[in-house]
Amino acid sequence: MNLWRKPFDIDEKAPRPVKIHIDIDRCKGCGYCAEFCPRGVLKMTGELSYKGYDMVGVVDDGKCLGCGLCEAMCPEFGIYLIYEDKELK
Ligand code: SF4
Ligand code: SF4
Repeated sequence: MNLWRKPFDIDEKAPRPVKIHIDIDRCKGCGYCAEFCPRGVLKMTGELSYKGYDMVGVVDDGKCLGCGLCEAMCPEFGIYLIYEDKELK
């Protein structure tokens, strides 16, 4: 007998496929998104943008949970997610 039961909200909480976009016109290189990402998906690259700010990069988007924390933390609206399963919702 299978005793394991799925949590009722598993579909709601499951990682969603997303594409992470960084807007280099807006990013000021503060590093909040990289610091607070729970999965280490983002990292400061040490390279300078054309405005002279340290640029953030996506190091492993396969680990991304689609939680949206990076988007919520960014004070410059410089990072955003596009949910690839949007049409299914
Ligand atoms: S959505 Fe969440 S897991 Fe993905 S990069 Fe942003 S903070 Fe990290
Ligand atoms: S939080 Fe926003 S401004 Fe700061 S490094 Fe990330 S994308 Fe750039």
